[in-house]
Order: sequence, then structure tokens, then C-alpha cells
Amino acid sequence: MRKTADVVIIGGGAAGTSTAYYLSKMGAKNVVLVEQNYTPFGGTGRCAAQFRLQFGSISNCKLGLLSVSQFDVLGEETGFGDLEIDKHGYLLTAYTEEEMECRRRDVELQHTLGIQSVVLDPKGCKEVAPFLEVGELAGGSYCTGEGTINPQKMALAFKKGAQDRGVEFYNYTKVTGIRVEGGKVKGVITDKGEIATECVVNATGEWGKFIGRMAGVTIPVEPEKHQICITEPLEYIGGPMIYDYRYGTYISQVKHGGFLMGWSDPDVEAGIIDFNTEWRVLEELCRRVVKQVPALANVRIVRHWAGQYGNGPDHSIIVGPVPEVEGFICALGMTKATMFAPAIGILAAESVLKAKPSLPMEPYTIDRFAKGNLIIDPALL
Ligand SMILES: Cc1cc2nc3c(=O)[nH]c(=O)nc-3n(C[C@H](O)[C@H](O)[C@H](O)COP(=O)(O)OP(=O)(O)OC[C@H]3O[C@@H](n4cnc5c(N)ncnc54)[C@H](O)[C@@H]3O)c2cc1C
Repeated sequence: MRKTADVVIIGGGAAGTSTAYYLSKMGAKNVVLVEQNYTPFGGTGRCAAQFRLQFGSISNCKLGLLSVSQFDVLGEETGFGDLEIDKHGYLLTAYTEEEMECRRRDVELQHTLGIQSVVLDPKGCKEVAPFLEVGELAGGSYCTGEGTINPQKMALAFKKGAQDRGVEFYNYTKVTGIRVEGGKVKGVITDKGEIATECVVNATGEWGKFIGRMAGVTIPVEPEKHQICITEPLEYIGGPMIYDYRYGTYISQVKHGGFLMGWSDPDVEAGIIDFNTEWRVLEELCRRVVKQVPALANVRIVRHWAGQYGNGPDHSIIVGPVPEVEGFICALGMTKATMFAPAIGILAAESVLKAKPSLPMEPYTIDRFAKGNLIIDPALL
């Protein structure tokens, strides 16, 4: 392992590998990435890997647009090949007139940025999602430029692209401390030795606050347990990912025919990292989803797993420097680090290199919380 580096990235998930890739593309040298396990061990390897453009704030829509434009070229640009991108669209359902009003307002905002979303009535929802029960539905919004990407392949493509440009990856190497002297980062301490550096990137997702503490930086990220399952394969009819704000669930049919669905039980203890699954949560998730897709009533679940979201005060990303410690850069994607991975990596790399940012940074930096400038975007959940 190296004894010195210009930049040490902590975390080998979507955010860390993306930061490594864009840093190397921007010409940075002597960059290393340290991962306590393997790529992608955390949320990235466990997620549903849906990406979307439909949000209710300009800042989140811009993250989506920048990221999708990068997904489109990543496989070829890195030489990794197919990333299994499937642009099946997203349907955000609404069950009340108030929710419909939200969908209409968001679509209007999205149109100002060129996002081709549309408002649908229940009949239109049924046309795009034939398996959906629309009896109680008021309508929804739908956009075809959204879909899924294979999250393992995405992270490994970023990793390959970065390694090809000289970034060194140290797996099974746990960061145990960060040396700070005179308010500046001076080194990263691992269980395999110390790396002297003046720049550390915290890309540890749901572990983000623990890494912050090592440098005396308070990061408002709380782990939130999220459980997900997939059914046995059924005849493939496709259609969009359906996000239901009423039940807090999502569901989509994947290409091999299985239905993928997930839910965060609000009664599960927050603030700790726990990958165990619970039968009770699976039952409740299935009860909710069968109301939306009655045809799933007697279909077998073949796999159920748990992961963690990193959750923050406004659920949106935290990227860029922190006020307390010079050389400490955040690349934290919170609940959406997979879909926003390219944007997070680009903005974090630009912060490290003090380059002109590709997007205005104010909405994404950590000081927005102290200033009270939270991103108001109920569609982000
Ligand atoms: C079930 C589920 C479904 C999801 N679905 C979606 C979805 O459809 N779309 C979407 O965009 N997002 C989704 N998410 C959220 C998404 O997975 C996360 O936002 C994203 O993967 C986080 O990426 P990350 O790189 O920030 O963190 P991670 O992928 O968690 O990577 C952080 C890494 O840091 C490492 N690390 C931590 N501490 C240390 C240390 N001390 N030393 C060294 N390494 C350390 C960890 O081992 C880990 O590999 C889902 C999450 C879950 C759990």
C-alpha cells in the first residue's frame, strides 16, 4: 500500500468509484480508493438501481439529467461494455387530487428543463402499466427517459475506467481514523497502515457520519434500513417502475420476469447498520404491493434482502468541502446515490481539484443545513 497520496477516497460504492473515475478523467494523479470490503458491498450492491428524472426541484432534476447523460456513454467510454440499461420509464402514482396537483406542478417544472414527462389519467396509467390496479387511482406522471442500470456493473465500470487511468484500489482495508492537524487533513489511518494525504473524500454512504466523526466533522446522515424482494419469473410484460407515495413502496418487473419491490418499515430502528431481513417486513411489503398489483397474490418470493439508505435532513446529496476541516470533501448520495452517481462523482472531483463546477454547488454543499437552505422536494422520497 502507498504511504502517500494526493487524494484518498473512502468507500468503493457508486459514489466512491464514480469520484475515482471522474477525478482520473480530469487528470488527477496519485489517487487511491480504500474500501473495507469489496466493490460494491454497501447500498450500491443491494439496490434496485432505478434512475429517474422526475423530481420536484430544479437542483434534483439537474442531477438526474447530468447522470443519465453519463450512463448513456459510460459502458463504451470505460471499455466495460453493456451496463444493462433499460429505459422502461417511471410512473409516479397519485391517489388524491392534492397528490395530482403535486404531479402536475412537478411536470410543469420538469418541462422547463426539457424533461419529457407527462401527466396521465387512470386510463393512461393502465396503458403504460397493464398490471396496475387503477380503481382508486387519480392518475400519475410518467417519463420514458428513466429506467434501470445494473448497479454492480456500473460501479465496476467506474472502477475499471479509474484503474486504467492509474487510480489504485485497496479492498478489505478499513479506515480507522483521519489525522487532522491545525484544521487540515494530514492523513488517513487504516488497519493496514497510514496514508499521508491532504485530501480525503468521504464516499461512505450510510456510514458517512462515522467517517465524519473521525475528522471531527458532523455529518447529518442516518442509516435507514430498507428491505426489498423479488418474485419468481412471470411472463414478461414490462412497463415502468411504479412509485407509490401512499404506501411508500415501489414495484417493477425486471427483464427475467420477476417483480422487484421494496419498502422501508418506519418502525425498524434507525441509525444503525443492519443487513438482516425480517419476515414481518416482507409480509407487510407484500400486503401493500398486492393491493396495487392483485395478480401477484399467489406468486412466490424467491429472494429477500436488506440494505441501508443514508438519509439526511432533506434526503438530497451532500457534496463538496466542509467548513470545519480543510481537505475533507463529501461525496454522499443519501437515498439516491446510484441514480445520481455520475453527478456526485463529477461534482466531488471538481471540488477536489477546485475546478469550475458543472452545476451550481450551493444546493448540494453541507453548509445549506446551517443556513436553513434545505431542498424542498417531496418527489425525492
Ligand atoms: C434495497 C435498496 C434499494 C435501493 N434502490 C435504489 C434505487 O432504485 N435507485 C437509487 O438511486 N438508489 C437506491 N438505493 C439507494 C442506493 O443504493 C444508495 O444511495 C447508494 O448505493 C449508496 O452508494 P454509496 O456509494 O454512497 O454508498 P455504498 O454503496 O453503501 O458504499 C459505501 C462504501 O463505503 C465502505 N465503507 C464504509 N465505512 C468504511 C471504512 N471505515 N473504511 C473503508 N470503507 C468503508 C462500505 O463498505 C461501502 O462499500 C437503494 C438502497 C437499498 C438498500
